[in-house]
Amino acid sequence: MAEFDVDLFVIGGGSGGVRAARIAAGYGAKVMVAEEYRMGGTCVIRGCVPKKLFVIGSHVHDKIEDAAGFGWSIGQVSFDWATLVANKDKEIARLEGAYTSNVEKSGARIVKTRAVLEDAHTIRLATGEKVTAKYILIATGGAPNHGPIVPGIEHVISSNEAFHLKELPKRIVIQGGGYIALEFAGIFAGFGSDVTVIYRGDNILRGFDEDVRKHVRAEMEKRGITIITGRTVAKVDKHGRDFTTHLSDGSSIASDQVMFAIGRHPNVRGLGLEAAGVAINPANGGIQVDGWSKTSVDNIYAVGDVTHRTNLTPVAIREGHAFADTVFGKRPVEVDHATIPTAVFSQPEVGTVGLTEEEARAQFSHVDIYKTDFRPIKATMSGRDTRVLMKLVVDGVSDRVLGCHIVGDGAAEITQAVAIAVKMKATKADFDATIALHPTSSEELVTMRTPTARHVRQAAE
Ligand code: FAD
Ligand code: NDP
Repeated sequence: MAEFDVDLFVIGGGSGGVRAARIAAGYGAKVMVAEEYRMGGTCVIRGCVPKKLFVIGSHVHDKIEDAAGFGWSIGQVSFDWATLVANKDKEIARLEGAYTSNVEKSGARIVKTRAVLEDAHTIRLATGEKVTAKYILIATGGAPNHGPIVPGIEHVISSNEAFHLKELPKRIVIQGGGYIALEFAGIFAGFGSDVTVIYRGDNILRGFDEDVRKHVRAEMEKRGITIITGRTVAKVDKHGRDFTTHLSDGSSIASDQVMFAIGRHPNVRGLGLEAAGVAINPANGGIQVDGWSKTSVDNIYAVGDVTHRTNLTPVAIREGHAFADTVFGKRPVEVDHATIPTAVFSQPEVGTVGLTEEEARAQFSHVDIYKTDFRPIKATMSGRDTRVLMKLVVDGVSDRVLGCHIVGDGAAEITQAVAIAVKMKATKADFDATIALHPTSSEELVTMRTPTARHVRQAAE
């Protein structure tokens, strides 16, 4: 009789868990996956995919507005939120089915229940059943933060609920200045809501390049989104269907919904980590892992948002795949977390890869900046008041392109391609040797000849 019921037990059927299960099963491992909610996890069910569908839908507003300059007369238009939500739900259900069948086709077995650790080799299911496993992968993802608790927090929605609102709010207050807050600000504004963003610091998108932060804020404000900085939400009152959001400076805002997007925390609570001896990383509250995603217990690994490293779907997938290769493919793969491209699907969109100007200047003695902002060709006819930002951060000594930052239409798509060059350590001369593709916005990336700034750090006396 086998020593364990399964070779691998995966807790969590999201991006990381599903990839790991399928690859491990492909190597011949006997795999079981527990999912307590819906197969596909955050990205598919209430993250990237429904968000992108909403973003695409909300862009139609611009297309309608921009059409007149190109000769189109568009009659009376209307938008129906309920249709959008229903069609999105249909697509998400289809994807959930595809995730389920792909896992099953790989030979892994899915159990639709919560699973927790009883010890380093035993998993307890909510059904009461116990399963023993040679290896365990924790891929339980994360959940929205809702604290610090303010009076009236029970009236506040997170991104989870934003995907299922019965009605489009006429006015919405969103607290947060990161990915989710700005993406939803653009979505709601695109569909016609009056949006106010409340951010505690001096400018949104902390951690992004300073020029990107300024540009995005200015462009969002041009689109009619109100951005209030240096303040937090102190209290939320509800009267009937209306809300009053009280801010830290004593002012207040009336709205039909209040949403917080103030970060996410790793799902580690109640998982039985202590019983199994799995350590938490005190620096970030996620499960502590090494470069191969191994936890403090030899046969237990963790991937994705639960480790709170870089909380992005392709990263979770890469970590899950690398785990399966390492443990079941006998091919150790360490994930390289450097130079990960990322996009904020705000309006305008942000695409970024590599170092910001500030990071580069802290790490390199000579930094050249190539920066341009310009009116995109479409705006010349549509009359829209908008500008695109493109910026390259270059090591002035080796000529290597250290970072690329774009704000404007197609920023995410452009950045995915530029990321290959940046990852390959391409130099500015390599960019310049590439003939431009005209007429595009991204041709600016290969035509910026003269640095707009040169930073030379003086050697310490
Ligand atoms: P998840 O996908 O969260 O999967 C974890 C799964 O584990 C969940 O299904 C959960 O139900 C299950 N689970 C938890 N505990 C248990 C248990 N004890 N037993 C059984 N099952 C359990 N990333 C991008 O790269 N691009 C984007 O555009 C993007 N947009 C986003 C938009 C939003 C609104 C949000 C919230 C996130 C977005 N992300 C995006 C982040 C991305 O969704 C996550 O990084 C990714 O889903 C992490 O994958 P994971 O496998 O670690 O966890
Ligand atoms: P982010 O970390 O991006 O942003 C959180 C925001 O909330 C920051 O502006 C932060 O301010 C602010 N904040 C944090 N705590 C408080 C508080 N107590 N009171 C008031 N404001 C607070 O988190 P999100 O929730 O937007 O998204 C979570 C993660 O999900 C992202 O970091 C990303 O990894 C992933 N994601 C990726 C997407 C993509 O790839 N396009 C889209 C959506 C999510 P400060 O900056 O001052 O700390």
